[in-house]
Amino acid sequence: MTIKEKSIQTVRHPIVVILGHVDHGKTTLLDTIRKTNVVSREAGGITQHLGAYEITWNDKKITFLDTPGHETFSKMRERGARVADIAILVVAADDGVKPQTKEAFEAIKNAKIPYLVALNKIDKPSADPDRVKAALAEMGVLVEGWGGTVPIISISAKVGTNIGELLDTVLLAAEMEELKSDPKTLAQGVVIEAHLDSRRGPSAMLLVTNGTLHKGEFILAGSASSPVRILENSLGKSVADAGPATPVTIVGFSKVPEVGVLFQAFHSKEDLEQAMSSQVVLSTKDSRDAVNAEVGIMLKADVAGSLEAISDEVRRVIPEGLSVRFFEGGVGDINENDIKSISSAHIAFVVGFHTKIKGPAADLAARFNVSVKTFDVIYEAVDWILAELKVYVPKQFTRDELGKLLVLKTFQSTGGGRIVGGRVREGKVVREAKFDIMRSGERVGSGSVSSVQRNKSAVDTLKEGEEGGLLVQSSRAIEERDILVFYNEREA
Ligand code: GDP
Repeated sequence: MTIKEKSIQTVRHPIVVILGHVDHGKTTLLDTIRKTNVVSREAGGITQHLGAYEITWNDKKITFLDTPGHETFSKMRERGARVADIAILVVAADDGVKPQTKEAFEAIKNAKIPYLVALNKIDKPSADPDRVKAALAEMGVLVEGWGGTVPIISISAKVGTNIGELLDTVLLAAEMEELKSDPKTLAQGVVIEAHLDSRRGPSAMLLVTNGTLHKGEFILAGSASSPVRILENSLGKSVADAGPATPVTIVGFSKVPEVGVLFQAFHSKEDLEQAMSSQVVLSTKDSRDAVNAEVGIMLKADVAGSLEAISDEVRRVIPEGLSVRFFEGGVGDINENDIKSISSAHIAFVVGFHTKIKGPAADLAARFNVSVKTFDVIYEAVDWILAELKVYVPKQFTRDELGKLLVLKTFQSTGGGRIVGGRVREGKVVREAKFDIMRSGERVGSGSVSSVQRNKSAVDTLKEGEEGGLLVQSSRAIEERDILVFYNEREA
């Protein structure tokens, strides 16, 4: 008989997200709650926004996501992360239920987490709680005292009224949820904030949702990895480990990880490497149709004077409509750290002026798809970067929608491409039109039509209600029941 090691589940503290309409007081509330934190006051009152913070209230911890707005919250959820356990829906008592209140409520409903309403700005003479409660009821939120059970607390985030009561209610909701996790397993969680620290390189704030992260381990977040060498809590203090529901900053990533991706910890570098090699890395680099992709440029020169000169010249020629981010380069040869830091950009260039590229840096550049070139004449450098950048300027197209087709059957064509049989639901389909592939309401790919057939003979057009076959080229497989949306494109 084998005895399996059982996962020991212990109670953990809650992670809370604050959602609501713009200007209803989410940021003010987050700031006010942060100020109740005795620990941060002792540490000199950290006011920096790091993506999340922890407070202690009545000897109990609560983690708050410091990213007001449901977009980030929804984005994280789309990636499968259950980031928050409890939501606070902020509604201004003077302004009432607004479009984003409804969107926030939808996001909460989709996340299937308990929530409470914070009726904010109660200090204002124009506050009208009854009107807001009625509007909430209309939206489907039945609050306490209004025929329902959703807790509602009247607060003033600005003045600080009833904040304690709000936190008590959060803790009560958490108790009822019985949040559990296993602190003994390897940590898992989600990246909630990431940036390139000019001094320390790519760093990220992670929220551990299960397990415990320890110094000496390794983590993988999407395609970015990092040794866990520098581990800091939400007050910026170095810690040895981070348990469940704890936000923690890690410095030393191979590149800036994407916000919202899940991370996993590993005991050793070998385990990490094995996980990386089995991961399918989709490189978006150098895809010349990466419209609106961010272009990273780093300039390096021998002395400060020439760095300034080349910087002025290069900035002058950046084509309009291109999103360019300058990475700190500085004086000296192009080294491996330069390549690492710029590799977080989708498209990356390093321009050297009177400098050399070190051997290992050249290898790394090739691996990360970073274009590096050095020059001794400024205008040659400028000409090169301009020619490279021009390729990435997004062309302005206008679309004329033609029609929609419901896919009934698909086959692989012997001559390449795919054959799609379907019925035109709306408008028409013409030869050489382009299309988007829509599946369950989402765009999953695109393509173009090579030829159109109806009753076994080639035609130019299929009209509404007609059935026919299309030979198409597409970016991914088309399935039965997909909707193809056809359009013509004109350069504007
Ligand atoms: P957010 O967009 O939801 O993050 O809203 P903010 O926190 O930025 O607040 C918007 C405005 O409302 C700011 O001018 C705040 O000072 C103000 N505000 C926030 N909470 C209160 C409150 O409780 N009472 C009053 N009178 N004003 C508030």
